[in-house]
Amino acid sequence: MEKTDRIFVAGHRGLAGGAILGELQRAGYSNLLTRTSTELNLRDRGATRTFFEEERPRVVALAAAKVGGIQANNDHPVEFLLWNLQIQNNVIEAAADFGVEKLLFLGSSCIYPKFAPQPIPEDALLTGALEPTNEAYAIAKIAGIKLCQAYARQLGKRFISAMPTNLYGPGDNFDLASSHVLPALLRKVHEAKQRGEREVVVWGTGTPRREFLHVDDLACACRFLLEQHDDPALINVGCGEDVTIRELAETICEVVGFGGSLVFDATKPDGTPRKLMDSSRLRRLGWQPAISLRDGLRSTYEWFLRQPATIRET
Ligand code: GDP
Repeated sequence: MEKTDRIFVAGHRGLAGGAILGELQRAGYSNLLTRTSTELNLRDRGATRTFFEEERPRVVALAAAKVGGIQANNDHPVEFLLWNLQIQNNVIEAAADFGVEKLLFLGSSCIYPKFAPQPIPEDALLTGALEPTNEAYAIAKIAGIKLCQAYARQLGKRFISAMPTNLYGPGDNFDLASSHVLPALLRKVHEAKQRGEREVVVWGTGTPRREFLHVDDLACACRFLLEQHDDPALINVGCGEDVTIRELAETICEVVGFGGSLVFDATKPDGTPRKLMDSSRLRRLGWQPAISLRDGLRSTYEWFLRQPATIRET
């Protein structure tokens, strides 16, 4: 990849896309192309094709997606399946038709079977039933991987797929109904501390295990893959360690400085019991994460505190 290559970062207002854009800027890429969803609706095939025809990006980082936490996924399977299929089909097809030389598609660790071996190797894909709470999203992402692989196999396109584990960091969604666990707990614990409350409610039993990767680490991995990796086989991007939701909540209490107690609401779903990915393939290629969970939590909390109350409370 040349520093002057025209690179379209699809989804640059999102957590992953924003971090990828920043990473590419810092690395000296000077011809970066972005569109907000108001400027370009990627669910609109015609508009997407016109954009590619006119702008002719050479490289695409496809981070645009309908994303959300366990409750949003569970409550809105139509949007998670349909919108994601539309976005990725339109972008991948247009990329192929209008001369894009390299495309990186971002999937998710939820593509793997609910009871996959842990840590989950890439070849666990399609070996068992999915976790029902995020099946719609997972099916869409699996279709995206398969479409990239189909273009690679049939037409020789350099379209690759990376599977990030649970991401967090500055720019995350802190809305309690639609967010993932980490920003939700950061906000809940912060608000409990501010209001002088003595308890924070954590959904589920606290026993599920999750792996958390700082989004700047993901962005660094994405640049690495764009620059150095052409294998269409999917590749995991994780930090290699997981924690229970209880441990996560306890660490967040320490970072925020909240001395109250945790209450577990078992009427809320736990989701998949564990999803630690095996990221040894990426490690062998020469990439490794740099940000520990505690450091990442600290800097994310500092970022959260700097946001105007209106953003924090959306
Ligand atoms: P998942 O990784 O797809 O299951 O998505 P989430 O990040 O939304 O949830 C991960 C785990 O955290 C699940 O077991 C949730 O029940 C649990 N959890 C605990 N408290 C919360 C919360 O306030 N919000 C969310 N989204 N999840 C929570």
